Amino acid sequence: MDNKTIAEILDDIGTFLELTGENPFKCRAYHNASRIVAGLTTEVEELIKSGEIKNVKGIGEGIAEKLKELVETGKLEYYESLKKSLPSGLLDILKIPGLGPKRVKFLYDKLKIDTIEKLKEAAETKKLEKLDGFGTKIAENILKGIEILKKHSEKFLFPVAKESADRIVEHLKKNKDIKRIEIAGSLRRKKEIIGDIDILVSIKKKDTKSVMDTFVNHPDVVSVTAHGDTKSSVVLKSGINCDLRVVKEEEFPFALAYFTGSKEHNVEMRSLAKKFGLSLNEYGFTEINTGKKIKKLECKDETDIYKSLKLEYIPPELRENQGEIEAAASGKLPFLIEEKDIKGTFHCHTNYSDGVNTIAEMAEAAQNLKWEYIGIAEHSKSAGYAGGLDDDSVKQQIAEIDELNKNFKNFRIFKGIEVDIFPDGRLDFSDKILSMFDFVICAVHSKFNMSEKDMTRRIITGMKNKYVTMLAHPTGRLLLEREAYPVNMKEILKAAADMGKIVEINAHPLRLDLDWRWCKFAKELGIKISINPDAHNVKSLTDVYYGVGIARKGWLERTDVINTLHLKEVVKYLNKK
Ligand SMILES: [Zn+2]
Ligand SMILES: [Zn+2]
Repeated sequence: MDNKTIAEILDDIGTFLELTGENPFKCRAYHNASRIVAGLTTEVEELIKSGEIKNVKGIGEGIAEKLKELVETGKLEYYESLKKSLPSGLLDILKIPGLGPKRVKFLYDKLKIDTIEKLKEAAETKKLEKLDGFGTKIAENILKGIEILKKHSEKFLFPVAKESADRIVEHLKKNKDIKRIEIAGSLRRKKEIIGDIDILVSIKKKDTKSVMDTFVNHPDVVSVTAHGDTKSSVVLKSGINCDLRVVKEEEFPFALAYFTGSKEHNVEMRSLAKKFGLSLNEYGFTEINTGKKIKKLECKDETDIYKSLKLEYIPPELRENQGEIEAAASGKLPFLIEEKDIKGTFHCHTNYSDGVNTIAEMAEAAQNLKWEYIGIAEHSKSAGYAGGLDDDSVKQQIAEIDELNKNFKNFRIFKGIEVDIFPDGRLDFSDKILSMFDFVICAVHSKFNMSEKDMTRRIITGMKNKYVTMLAHPTGRLLLEREAYPVNMKEILKAAADMGKIVEINAHPLRLDLDWRWCKFAKELGIKISINPDAHNVKSLTDVYYGVGIARKGWLERTDVINTLHLKEVVKYLNKK
């Protein structure tokens, strides 16, 4: 258990004690201990083992006993039973910005308020403002806080978080005191869903005030939850929580690695460091035996940290404890695909179905991205909701594309279709129509409530059609909106590999489906992946780059991805099909 987690538990105990009305000295002792542990450069675990813990100022015998139980068993009975003794709603109420334990306890004692709903009702029915020490202003703030909490407790799609973070970083960069600045956390690892934003900064002078002020005064900031010397926290307009930490220049690479995570990756890194007799944390390497910082292991960047442990540099996207440390130790990390490798894309919609732009406009936008081809794939006829094409409009579109293609020299529009797979596995067009396209994408768009077995069979049967080139959005999920339908992904991927079908990473930020957790498996089966934007307008063509992030998380290399091929190669590939 790392010091950060231990510090959080100690802090929680202090808060729980406040909620039960325990004497303030006892409460404060835990809050203090929490701060002390958070600032330690040696792991508590080591201090317990060596007995050094009794020499740490501010940690009394009683708390030391509890720390021992915590690191040795991974649990603390005292903490668990305190937590159980409190209505769980009180802990939710505590998350409302601006409401401390004292007030929460008061509200519980006076009005039996133990859920956010009850609190909201009390504020709206003006019961709160009549209480001692409250009043209209505080009641209003509580309502505002509930609103923020509701938004803030949500998770965020990658682009929302990325855009919010970039705006802050761009602004901070104008502050001349800043030496290095990086976004850390899950955003740096390009996770599909982001909880909050972590920004890390090192500065040229000691005084952090001007940087912290620049941060908390950013116009996107709607509330400041903490404003300290080394850490400030705010809630941004988008509802996302954003932390800024200022660290010493020499600690920057260690802090960056630490706050980039993932937790699981860090745990592995620390246990590897131990084998070298080292303790690794966000401040640097220390010698386990002496607890001293190791001068010769000063690292100017993350590459140096990995090098110190005899590892290749591990790109942030791979830091998910999926075997990357073993691969880095044996020089077997993948040579990850990059944005510049993309040479074109498939699966784009136009105003023939539910897209916004014309074919010509989509082709022009693709050329502006320096791409060599674009594949148009409208919905098929049963997709009435999405302006699906009937046989006649298919023929009309094909003729229009043939006409447009005459004008291009080193660019081509591929004729495709996104054909529905019916529940029985049949496709929504006859083979005769399907044979007219350069490529055929099959996908499920209806009747999601089938059993896993039936849905799996449905998709595999659909893929079996000899005209099918690739499978789109294999699970149908819409992140934060709609669950994936149940499918046996292993079976689907095996079938795709057997039949030589391409599987799509749908790069729309709501989908990012195939999930990155399956990419490595697909790659091992020899499946080719296509990174498709499912674009319904010219702007979303660049969603492909979100898909590249997911492909990188999934260990994919340039050669695993079909739309890294140049035009000539891709024509050859499609003709073979
Ligand atoms: Zn679709
Ligand atoms: Zn589509």
